[in-house]
Amino acid sequence: MSEVLKTDYLIIGSGVVGMAFADTLLEETSANIIIVDRYVKPGGHWNLAYPFVTLHQPSSFFGVSSKELSRGTFDQVGLNKGMGDLASGAEVCAYFDDLMRQRFLASGRVQYFPMCDYLGDGTFTSKLTGKEYQVEHKKLVDATFLTVDVPSTHTPNFSISPEVQFMPLNDLPKIRAKPTGYVVIGGGKTAIDACLWLLETGVDPDDITWIRSRDAWLLDRANTQPTEAFFTHSVGSIAVQYEAIAGADSIEDMFDRLEVGGYLLRLDKNVRPSMFHAATISRAEVTELQRIKNIVRLGHVTEIEESRIVLANGEIETSKGHVHVDCSASLIRTIGKRVPVPVFKGKCITPQMIRGYQPAFSASMAAYVEANYTEEDERNKLCALVPMPNQAEDFIPMTLAMMTNQFNWSQDKPLKRWIGQNRLDGFTKLITSVDKNDREKMDIMRRIQVSAMPAVAKLQQFAAELSEGF
Ligand SMILES: Cc1cc2nc3c(=O)[nH]c(=O)nc-3n(C[C@H](O)[C@H](O)[C@H](O)COP(=O)(O)OP(=O)(O)OC[C@H]3O[C@@H](n4cnc5c(N)ncnc54)[C@H](O)[C@@H]3O)c2cc1C
Repeated sequence: MSEVLKTDYLIIGSGVVGMAFADTLLEETSANIIIVDRYVKPGGHWNLAYPFVTLHQPSSFFGVSSKELSRGTFDQVGLNKGMGDLASGAEVCAYFDDLMRQRFLASGRVQYFPMCDYLGDGTFTSKLTGKEYQVEHKKLVDATFLTVDVPSTHTPNFSISPEVQFMPLNDLPKIRAKPTGYVVIGGGKTAIDACLWLLETGVDPDDITWIRSRDAWLLDRANTQPTEAFFTHSVGSIAVQYEAIAGADSIEDMFDRLEVGGYLLRLDKNVRPSMFHAATISRAEVTELQRIKNIVRLGHVTEIEESRIVLANGEIETSKGHVHVDCSASLIRTIGKRVPVPVFKGKCITPQMIRGYQPAFSASMAAYVEANYTEEDERNKLCALVPMPNQAEDFIPMTLAMMTNQFNWSQDKPLKRWIGQNRLDGFTKLITSVDKNDREKMDIMRRIQVSAMPAVAKLQQFAAELSEGF
């Protein structure tokens, strides 16, 4: 016999997406909310993260709008020196836990059911007691669409012989004796984190083999700093981006210009990246990673045996003494499985990216639109999907969608004002507070204004070329 509960909004998932959505809903409405999650604490995948994980973009615009996450400090040491603090996994988890208890539950409007599996049709069960609940709700919020595949829970898509030492990067700190070498598998942000941690702990770069089937274009973290001191970098990078796109003769030329202008980085000047997952990195981290010389580019791993690793385009030697570090989980592999749906569809709301690389802002804005607009078409127009990038060329539809959304939002004055006051929006406050007498900053603003429309036109041209298979 299931217990019947009643609520306005039933939110599945208490990761950053579910939490940011609920936070704005609490602010903008008087609705009641039930949040269901299969994990023990709020924070989603951060509960499973490796011990040395940090955010890759500044804490100052991650989390929920109502509560600051940043310590308001600039790192004094390390590879993020001079830039805004990056919350560790433990800090992110503590932040969400505190938020749940002190704001959400304390409001009396939120009920939270951790350790529960949502089964569909308003039904969930407790994993501990087996008790079943049936929720009568006005709206369902599926805050699981952007969920990420993390190394500690994912299943690699290659086979591993039982004798091989194979572990997710979470287990690296458990190593007790020096292995023959480290083989890091993966070309994304997690692999970057594993390599940086190994180097930081004193591992000789020559003891690291990095299997990087694809190289990635990376974002420069200096360009993501939402502070006055970084105006030339952060707002300046928007001008660089638009000018690079507008002035490009071809897609390849566009990437060249984005790199020359400092918008994009890569790890190896001799290898053209074919991937773009919006991983964000500092220049000091790039230099550090370049100390690793043993890079294997033979495609994806298909098999790890006792003495060799088989890849799509060849094989390399390994041994039982080597530690193989799994960093092959990928956001794209999880999200790629799901077919995007409109954010608003009848009684179901599915928050997805409506601003590239910004899941927290995107979820918060979806809640604002839910609270303040009534027509589904209008809601979906304001929350038009920004496709997740995977291949380098995906930068084109992603940027086009982002710029179109940004334009639509700028036409709506109350929305524009709300965005400017939202903690999760990085740059609007910075841009709107420019002193009109500051010639350097005003020049950057002028460059953005002049190049925005030509950039949109060029992106449309490139998008058409891509769809015609050029
Ligand atoms: C290493 C790393 C660094 C990152 N750094 C940044 C950063 O600097 N800035 C940034 O903006 N983003 C960053 N991200 C991404 C961001 O943190 C979010 O993880 C991401 O967008 C997904 O959030 P989410 O809430 O959708 O998913 P999750 O965190 O995966 O949360 C989904 C939740 O849904 C629950 N769930 C799913 N299905 C069910 C079900 N059937 N029943 C009950 N519960 C269910 C899960 O238990 C989980 O808690 C980073 C990600 C990683 C991996």
